[in-house]
Amino acid sequence: MLEIRNLYKAYGKLQVLDGLNLTIHEGELFGFVGSNGAGKTTTIKIITGLLQADSGDVLVDGVKAAQQREALKSKIGYVPDFFGVYDNLKVSEYMEFFASCYGIEGLRARQRYMTLLEQVGLEEKVNFYVDGLSRGMKQRLCLARALIQDPQLLVLDEPASGLDPRSRLEMKGILKELREQGKTIMLSSHILSELAEICTDIGIIDQGKMAAKGSIEDILSRVNASNPLLITVLGEVEKTMTLLRSHPYVQTISVKGKEISVGFSGEKRDEAMLLQRLVDAEIPVSGFMRERGSLESIFMQFIQQDKTSRGGGAA
Ligand code: ADP
Repeated sequence: MLEIRNLYKAYGKLQVLDGLNLTIHEGELFGFVGSNGAGKTTTIKIITGLLQADSGDVLVDGVKAAQQREALKSKIGYVPDFFGVYDNLKVSEYMEFFASCYGIEGLRARQRYMTLLEQVGLEEKVNFYVDGLSRGMKQRLCLARALIQDPQLLVLDEPASGLDPRSRLEMKGILKELREQGKTIMLSSHILSELAEICTDIGIIDQGKMAAKGSIEDILSRVNASNPLLITVLGEVEKTMTLLRSHPYVQTISVKGKEISVGFSGEKRDEAMLLQRLVDAEIPVSGFMRERGSLESIFMQFIQQDKTSRGGGAA
């Protein structure tokens, strides 16, 4: 659905996008995460055709964002991080205006926007003035507006910022529903845990490059593999230690009562074989798992890994 190839963008001497590559498949609810200043908004503006890249390609369902602006408009719905204030405009007039931008007029327009307002929980506000709505409602109105032409791809820039917990929850519910209806959705945030709850896939951008991409489980397991193995035994601690000390993949061992934390360099299969050896030695193992990192610590690990690999001159 979305294909970004080798995207570069600089503001003066500041290289904001530095060879960004990203693919989002149809039906994904994709979380685009990165620290402030990582290049998320710049990428989104290029995808939506609002900004020109220095080089590289962006294809939305086969349409080139930079060259085919008109065709792009029908394919993509965009919810920016800041939206303007509309004085003296009612919700109905606001929606009518955007419908007319896509050639949808009269009764057809009203039917279309009433369906959308219902979907975002604003049908009762249709005769209210836009500037009298709460921030959460304005955000949902903006989402309804972005859906007016029934685009295949919906792009939201930091949709949760400035929203209270209830509004965030409502927004998450609406996005999940839209995905179930077949929309492909990309949303950005600088907080990974915010995206992890609803997204099917995550991409981490750091200094204008993708530092990691995959399903949430995939990303978790990739980082967890460098975390210690936590083994809990009901007894036989000394016997367990002797067995562990002779194991080729065991790097470090620390013991707290019957919990043993092991620096283990092997892969999943090696973990399974170690567990088998413990069981064969009749050690009563009651717990055996990799320590799980918190989402934010994972985010930092990816960014740091990226910096280390660049510092070392690696690709
Ligand atoms: P993010 O959305 O990840 O916070 P942005 O894409 O907004 O990051 O910004 C990336 C970097 O580009 C930041 O350092 C920002 O200050 C800079 N930047 C963004 N827009 C402009 C602009 N119009 N002129 C100069 N610098 C800009």
